Amino acid sequence: MKCIICKNTIETIFLNKILGTYIKDQKGKRQVVCFECQKKFSSKSDMMAQIK
Ligand SMILES: [Zn+2]
Repeated sequence: MKCIICKNTIETIFLNKILGTYIKDQKGKRQVVCFECQKKFSSKSDMMAQIK
């Protein structure tokens, strides 16, 4: 799984648990954001703004 913002690979802790968070893009598709980007962008709308 890759971060939608920085494209880094996100570690899976176990099963569906990831080191990061899920956001929904404009099309309602689930995307993953890594822990680093989650720290950088405090709100989901900030994260959304980074998606190209
Ligand atoms: Zn990232």
